[in-house]
Amino acid sequence: MEAGLAQIREEVLRRNPGETEFFQAVDEVFNSLGPVMKRHPEYVEHGILRRMVEPERQITFRVPWVDDKGVVKINRGFRVQFNSALGPYKGGIRFHPSVYLGIMKFLGFEQVFKNALTGMPIGGGKGGADFNPSGRSEGEIMRFCQSFITELYRHIGEHTDVPAGDIGVGTREIGFMFGQYRRITNRFEAGAFTGKGVSWGGSLVRPEATGNGVVMFANQMLKTIGTTLDGATVTVSGSGNVAINAINYATSLGATVLTASDSSGYVVDEQGIDIELLRQIKITERARISEYAERRERAHFVSDGSIWEVPVDVAIPCATQNELSGDDAATLVMNGVKAVAEGANMPSTHQAINTFREAGVLFGPGKAANAGGVATSALEMQQNASRDTWSFDYTHSRLEENMEDIHDRCIATAEDFGHPGDYVIGANIAGFLKVADAMIAQGVV
Ligand code: NDP
Repeated sequence: MEAGLAQIREEVLRRNPGETEFFQAVDEVFNSLGPVMKRHPEYVEHGILRRMVEPERQITFRVPWVDDKGVVKINRGFRVQFNSALGPYKGGIRFHPSVYLGIMKFLGFEQVFKNALTGMPIGGGKGGADFNPSGRSEGEIMRFCQSFITELYRHIGEHTDVPAGDIGVGTREIGFMFGQYRRITNRFEAGAFTGKGVSWGGSLVRPEATGNGVVMFANQMLKTIGTTLDGATVTVSGSGNVAINAINYATSLGATVLTASDSSGYVVDEQGIDIELLRQIKITERARISEYAERRERAHFVSDGSIWEVPVDVAIPCATQNELSGDDAATLVMNGVKAVAEGANMPSTHQAINTFREAGVLFGPGKAANAGGVATSALEMQQNASRDTWSFDYTHSRLEENMEDIHDRCIATAEDFGHPGDYVIGANIAGFLKVADAMIAQGVV
């Protein structure tokens, strides 16, 4: 790593103690930026890197609410408004017990680059709370969302900061948050949130966009080596919004998806995951993944062990950060994996990424491969601004164009900076250049 980059890297480590995920995300980007710093010393002169690793604003707040037994509960809420050089902050809200500032900052930092890569006028941010929605009644979820927005509403808005969903936050939760925002502000400001219900300002294709988009990206990568997903075997981890749509779309393109998982374990179905059964269990019943194996002959459930031990052509991690270790990557490589596309944010550890790159496996990093969700959120904002509603087919074709553009931009940038075929370097540099140039043009702010 270049001396200038190494020094700022050390500062990030010192100034953000204990925030391991944030440091990991910064480190991964810095490892790609050497060729840029050589070609463009002006970025150092303008202090771009030091500014980019410091969020423009970070908000932490108390979220008090009352559970069904009348007990007062307190959670911690966050919104990290990382960078608005390209547009209003844009990024999801995560409700999960593991949430703390370091996770919010890693997600916000990644989001800045991802949003730049989409080519849309959106900055990057992320938010959430250490609230565990699992096992909570609908009334409890609603009261929590209302309390969360009672504080957050003053910091967001269609021109300021536009939240969406993430782990633990789907259309239902966006509905409760939007409702409280509308009540407090006395404004129907559709563009203040994305991922809304279709009947009240949401975009068709938004629920499917991240999962479909990551599959499109995987297919684009495979085409560069003369093959496609048709006839391929695939591992998908997770069974939430991104995973279910990735399984569905990969299957529609002729792939056989062998797995799905949740935090209790994974199922293997050699005949291909039955998407309707998975939806019934995970969305309608909100039950555990082991139920799938109970109800489907020849499928089996594994509670201990790694989902990445299943031999496949393509792996699509869609659950959470650091779910795919260096050892997992080595197993996938040994079993002949050809391509890995990240549906989740930062699911592969640093060692895993290096293992894939050294083995010549096509590797699509999340900030490129899962950008279809936020790109379609930007399309939702466009529809809201023009009070228009687009058809499913038209919106889906826009998503396809977006994913193809992102793929091609990664390839072209990697080639331009001397690393042909390296999607990590391509994505990091392409995202960085767009944000850095906007920051220079707008002065030291
Ligand atoms: P969901 O809450 O809908 O689903 C998350 C899934 O991952 C669940 O199956 C969950 O299982 C599983 N999971 C979560 N934590 C763990 C863990 N520690 N170990 C094993 N499994 C786990 O979230 P999404 O599908 O929306 O998000 C998944 C990933 O995709 C996240 O990394 C998110 O940041 C990323 N992403 C999402 C986008 C979107 O549009 N929603 C956009 C871009 C990225 P369980 O129910 O047992 O917890």
